[in-house]
Amino acid sequence: MLTKVIEQAKIDRFARWMGHAERIVIVAHVAPDGDAIGSSLGLWHFLNSQDKTANVIVPNAFPDFLKWMPGSKDVLLYDRYKEFADKLIAEAEIICCLDFNALSRIDAMADAIKTAKGKKILIDHHLYPEEFCDITISHPNISSTSELIFRLICRMGYFSEITKQGAECIYTGMMTDTGGFTYNSNNREIYFIIGELLSKGIDKDDIYRKVYNTYSESRLRLMGYVLSQMRVYPDYHAALISLTKNEQGRFDYIRGDSEGFVNIPLSIKDVVFSCFLREDTEKPMIKVSLRSVGTFPCNQLAAEFFNGGGHLNASGGEFYGTIDEAKRVLERALEKFKPLLNAKG
Ligand code: 5GP
Ligand code: MN
Repeated sequence: MLTKVIEQAKIDRFARWMGHAERIVIVAHVAPDGDAIGSSLGLWHFLNSQDKTANVIVPNAFPDFLKWMPGSKDVLLYDRYKEFADKLIAEAEIICCLDFNALSRIDAMADAIKTAKGKKILIDHHLYPEEFCDITISHPNISSTSELIFRLICRMGYFSEITKQGAECIYTGMMTDTGGFTYNSNNREIYFIIGELLSKGIDKDDIYRKVYNTYSESRLRLMGYVLSQMRVYPDYHAALISLTKNEQGRFDYIRGDSEGFVNIPLSIKDVVFSCFLREDTEKPMIKVSLRSVGTFPCNQLAAEFFNGGGHLNASGGEFYGTIDEAKRVLERALEKFKPLLNAKG
C-alpha cells in the first residue's frame, strides 16, 4: 500500500477539471531528461486512455536515448513548431506543468504558458515552486515527477487504466532521476510502485539497457578523454571535469553524449562533490552540473555561485564567461564550502 502523499482536495479538483476538459497540454522543462519525458508521456498515455486530446510540448530536443519511449515521436518541440504549439497552448482547457518549479525553466515557452487561459496544474518535485498554477502539487521528498504521476493516477482510481506503454514511461523517469535507483531511492514505496509497474508487463532490465547502454563508440572515447583530464581536489573531497566546444568537435559530440558524466567522479573514494562544466553548443554559456553524495548541499552552491538550483544531491546552473573563469569560480566556491565538504556524513 502507498502512503497518501498528494493532498486529497487537489486530486479531487484535478479529477473534476478532467471530467469537463477535452484538450489538455502537458509541458516539461528545457533540455528534457528522462523524468521530464517519462512523467509527461506517462500522463499522456493515461489521458489518451480517457479519450482526451492531449499533447506533450517541451521547449527543445531531448536525448536520443529517450527516443525509444512509446509516444516520444508525438512530443512537440517548441523551438521547431512554435506556431502550432502556441495554438495548442492557447486552446488548452488544462495545462499540466511537469518536472519544473519556475516558468524560467521552460525558456521561450514561459510567456505562452503564463498568458494561457486554461487551468494550470503543477506536478513537480523541485524545491521552492513558484506560484503560477491553480493547483500546485509539489513534493521535493519524492524522487521523481514520474512517481508523482503514478501516485496521482492511482489516487484518482485509475490504476487499471495504466497501460504497459504508460508504465514504461513512468518507470523510465523513476529510474533516471535516481541514477538507476542508486541515489534518492531509499523510500521503500518506490519498490512497491516498481512491483505494480512490473505487473503491467514492463521489462525493467530492457529499459535499463535502452537508456544506459546504447551509446556510440565516440561517446565512450569522449568519456575516457574527459576522465583523463579530471582534476581532483583531495582537500575538498571534490572533483572537476570539463568539456569545451573544441573537444566536443573532436569526438563527434551529439546532444546527450555527456549525460551521466558528472556522476562518475563520485565513484572515487572520499569524493563527495562533483562538478561538470560544459561549453553549451547553442547559448554562449557554460552549463554547470553538480552532484554530491551524503549531506553536501550542491543546490546551495549552484544558487550562490552559478545562478542555479536543484536538489540537495543533484543541481545545476549556468555561467556566462569562459570555462577558465568558471573553474576559478568553482575553486572560490570550494573554499567557501570547505567546512561542509569536510563534514562527515
Ligand atoms: P543536470 O545536471 O542533470 O542538468 O541537472 C540536475 C538538476 O539540477 C535538475 O534536475 C535541476 O533540478 C537542476 N538544474 C540544472 N540546471 C539548472 C539551472 O540552470 N537552474 C536551476 N534552477 N536548476 C537547474
Ligand atoms: Mn525530475
